[in-house]
Amino acid sequence: MVAVSSWGMLGSWEHDVRHLQRGASRLPVAAGLTGLAYGMGRSYGDVCLNPDGVLWQTTGLDRFVSFDPVLGRLVCEPGVLLRDIQRVMVPRGWILPVTPGSQYVTVGGAVANDVHGKNHHVAGSFGEHVRRLMLLRTDGSVIECSPTRQPEWFQATIGGMGLTGVITEVDMQLHKIASPWLEVETLAYHNLDEFFALSAASEYNWDYTVSWVDCLHAAGRGIFMRANHAAAEQTPAVQSRTLNMPFVPPVSLLNKYSVKPFNFLYFNLKKHQVGKKLMHYQPFFYPLDNVLNWNRIYGPRGFYQYQSVVPVEHGRDAIQAMLKEIARAGAGSFLAVLKTFGSREPAGMMSFAEQGVTLALDFANQGAVTLQLFERLDAIVREAGGKLYPAKDARMPRELFESGYPRLDEFLSYRDPGISSALSRRLTGS
Ligand SMILES: Cc1cc2nc3c(=O)[nH]c(=O)nc-3n(C[C@H](O)[C@H](O)[C@H](O)COP(=O)(O)OP(=O)(O)OC[C@H]3O[C@@H](n4cnc5c(N)ncnc54)[C@H](O)[C@@H]3O)c2cc1C
Repeated sequence: MVAVSSWGMLGSWEHDVRHLQRGASRLPVAAGLTGLAYGMGRSYGDVCLNPDGVLWQTTGLDRFVSFDPVLGRLVCEPGVLLRDIQRVMVPRGWILPVTPGSQYVTVGGAVANDVHGKNHHVAGSFGEHVRRLMLLRTDGSVIECSPTRQPEWFQATIGGMGLTGVITEVDMQLHKIASPWLEVETLAYHNLDEFFALSAASEYNWDYTVSWVDCLHAAGRGIFMRANHAAAEQTPAVQSRTLNMPFVPPVSLLNKYSVKPFNFLYFNLKKHQVGKKLMHYQPFFYPLDNVLNWNRIYGPRGFYQYQSVVPVEHGRDAIQAMLKEIARAGAGSFLAVLKTFGSREPAGMMSFAEQGVTLALDFANQGAVTLQLFERLDAIVREAGGKLYPAKDARMPRELFESGYPRLDEFLSYRDPGISSALSRRLTGS
């Protein structure tokens, strides 16, 4: 047994870790135990954990199977990292159509959580670009599915949190680009009305939008970034340096004494740097990947991420109410993202991203105080008809999960009985 934790480092639990072998026709099971696929463990909470059970480590399944350079169609194994796709494909004029804020994520993990990026309003989530999947079940059966072939299996597996089987191959469509650079415009906003006005004004002409919000400023000020792929090859010198958080400090370095002055300084510094510039895709898409092990900064008790999406019609009031609660509690951290999702149909039965406004914030784990704050935030999300993101979750109550995911019952009929996770036991009872 090996102790395994997830990105939030809220604890570590014993698992029987088995490395998946290429071409195996059956999953390595252990008598009486359930299993679960595990990619890079970049999920924050318990969706990728199966304490006292088996974890099927997928990172050895890291082969590119085929690539069509004319059409940009890539077939690969599920343990391939998004980083490796970008490294190999960007110089060939193709890029991932959707990418989350870390490139240290496997393709299987990206499908199973149906991850979103900064371009949801134009490209939807990851699953929208998947053309075909191969799924291996614990009974040894193999299911090939796509939007037209066994579409119900496809929809259950996209965003299916690994619970329908192990994805063994993914066929996806990449996006054509002329340059690895992006034209990025940075703007400051001073309240939520300005944020919503900027989002609406950017929806049609900008491929990527995202904002940093000062979570301790109740009016909701922040820094808005929007970007398009640069039209032609431009090669300014890349200045990229990787930093490392070498140890876990005894207490969280992000607390109410450090975050407030930090946010104040950051906002005022960035406010004076507004304007347009060229940015390489890596720092734009993956700013946090530049600091290895940044999750250690929260100390030995780890941290939670709280990511919600609420429908547009209640978005302004709900975000305002959440920011007020967080500011009042003096909680939250520097890492706070506010952005709108577009009206694309979710690709999976259990996909998180759907039209609305999403707020994602990290919180150092301070035990009961943090959990009580989350209950107040849950009430706001529930009232607004919103939901939380399982990929980031370690504690949402079952009724909020059920109300946020109305296709849950339908989804459960596609579950593999030999697969289970800490999250599935917590939120579905098995
Ligand atoms: C810095 C950072 C930024 C992030 N930004 C974003 C963001 O912008 N948008 C976003 O949506 N997410 C974001 N995330 C979350 C991350 O993209 C997801 O949690 C992703 O699913 C992690 O992939 P992984 O390979 O680490 O999978 P894991 O965390 O190991 O597993 C995730 C889920 O996928 C399942 N799974 C993995 N492989 C397979 C397989 N082969 N077959 C079936 N199921 C499988 C697991 O069982 C589990 O349920 C971010 C995470 C970090 C650390």
